[in-house]
Amino acid sequence: MSVTDRCNLRCTYCMPAEGLPWLPRPEMLTDDEMIRLVSIFVRLGVTQIRLTGGEPLLRRGLPALVERMAALEPRPKIAMTTNGVGLERVAGPLAAAGLDRVNVSLDTVNRDEFQTLTRRDRLPDVEKGLAAAAEAGLLPVKVNAVAMRGINDHSVADVLQWCLDRGYELRFIEQMPLDAQHSWDKTAMVTAEEIHERLSRRFTLTPMPASERGSAPAERFLVDGGPATVGIIASVTRPFCRACDRTRLTADGQVRNCLFSQRETDLRGPMRDGASDDELAALINGEMWVKAPGHGIGTAGFSQPDRPMSAIGG
Ligand code: SAM
Ligand code: SF4
Repeated sequence: MSVTDRCNLRCTYCMPAEGLPWLPRPEMLTDDEMIRLVSIFVRLGVTQIRLTGGEPLLRRGLPALVERMAALEPRPKIAMTTNGVGLERVAGPLAAAGLDRVNVSLDTVNRDEFQTLTRRDRLPDVEKGLAAAAEAGLLPVKVNAVAMRGINDHSVADVLQWCLDRGYELRFIEQMPLDAQHSWDKTAMVTAEEIHERLSRRFTLTPMPASERGSAPAERFLVDGGPATVGIIASVTRPFCRACDRTRLTADGQVRNCLFSQRETDLRGPMRDGASDDELAALINGEMWVKAPGHGIGTAGFSQPDRPMSAIGG
């Protein structure tokens, strides 16, 4: 569930330097509308809500929204994916409100590389945000990283060592064609295999049984015999669409059955026009029944969705 499309970083694989035309405020769901839709999703069987964006911490009153979600019956697990800037201040209040888990996106622990990748010099803030998350008990603290050729691909093992030293669980994800600039190039992408090979030069990686994976996208490995692990998400080269059980809700109230879907179903309009919970549930189900068997990246029929990742909710 994306709570905003705005962001305070400008990661090159996500947004252009000048940012994007943000959604006009009246088009964004209010807190009441979000809670109503979440309660319908929960009634339909959703057991985990992941707050994302844009940068979810830019949504005002996020702890209050989390508290209302945590009060739903049955109570969903509540997780958040954030860039970590500003997390230092709100990790405690969010945990107190009912947030269960956090994934912080951090592609490099080298300040210059961080600035090149995100176009902002905010690495120290992210580091403090991660420490605050651990302190607030949002455990295990997870870190997501994207490797970009020529920027941080040579330093992936440093990120793993840094996470191991602090007890954070790291996962790498292949860069996907979801940037607003449409600059993704499969031949330049750093593949999961390459990340594995680079990590293996410094660490011994032992695959964990596939049975432990379930619908989770990451292939996990024990690092140097464990118990620490590292995950590698081969979203492009070894898609896991068959096991995907996710539904996406954008900040302007569109339900999507896939990151790469060319279609979406509007819930905001019908909701504001007085649709009942049952009618909204039928719209959600209708969208989910037509989920495609796979994303088809790299095939002739594939075209990138109009909405960039930051407006869908990664
Ligand atoms: N702003 C928050 C953050 O960065 O964690 C939440 C939204 S961001 C779109 C969610 C995740 O998507 C981040 O981990 C980010 O690295 C990842 N991401 C963004 N663009 C991507 C792309 N083109 N390919 C793969 N991952 C991407
Ligand atoms: Fe912002 Fe997250 Fe996109 Fe980076 S990946 S620009 S932090 S939305």
